[in-house]
Amino acid sequence: MSAVELNARATAGFEQRVESAIAVLREAASTHAGRIVQATSLGAEDMVLTDLIARHDLPIAIATLDTGKLHAETLALIPRIEARYRRAVEVFRPADTAVIHFVRQHGERAMFESIDLRKACCGIRKLEPLGRMLDGRSAWVTGLRREQSEHRAVVPFSESEASGRIKFNPLADWSWADVWQYIATREVPYNPLHDRFFPSIGCEPCTRAIALGEDFRAGRWWWEQEGAKECGLHMQPLKNKQGVAA
Ligand code: SF4
Repeated sequence: MSAVELNARATAGFEQRVESAIAVLREAASTHAGRIVQATSLGAEDMVLTDLIARHDLPIAIATLDTGKLHAETLALIPRIEARYRRAVEVFRPADTAVIHFVRQHGERAMFESIDLRKACCGIRKLEPLGRMLDGRSAWVTGLRREQSEHRAVVPFSESEASGRIKFNPLADWSWADVWQYIATREVPYNPLHDRFFPSIGCEPCTRAIALGEDFRAGRWWWEQEGAKECGLHMQPLKNKQGVAA
């Protein structure tokens, strides 16, 4: 059974949530014209966002992080996006010297040795290139949803980061069924790993398929306690639009 067959479901208010996501994207694009990027993980939510951006011809750049540890199926989506939407995908990679030094010092499997080493690996392979992606940009768009985890339960549609940059989360109130309903009805390309029970896809060594009944993000850093399961990309102290700490 494919991820579409398993998850797509039309629920009350779906088309309104689509319209509301488009409205968030339009506002983001007009307020931050030329200075806004969608940081796509190439996961299902981000494919929905890329489709919305391209379909409505919004001036939002599309960029991704190639950590050097992604599945081949994930990387294969980049040329598929470029061909389908006629949009370039900016690819940011970690600094070679930092990766070589880290691997020489701690080995290829350092992430399994301690949370500190896992976070150091995420720092080199994700956070540093993300910094370059966001450099000179006043806003970014992510596929965060409240349903994804306890930590994300309060995700607002837009939030001001400590740096002053604005993060837009147009799918904040979408369910997993909404994501797949959109993919099914708009025929959005998606990572075939989703058909193999990978709802949340990260780096190859740090992601596994989940079993029936397991939590959405159970396959990410599965050997760690729940509270540690973020890579740091979305961990800055945040404020929402009204300046209230989220
Ligand atoms: Fe390294 Fe795993 Fe983090 Fe990827 S998810 S950057 S492989 S620790």
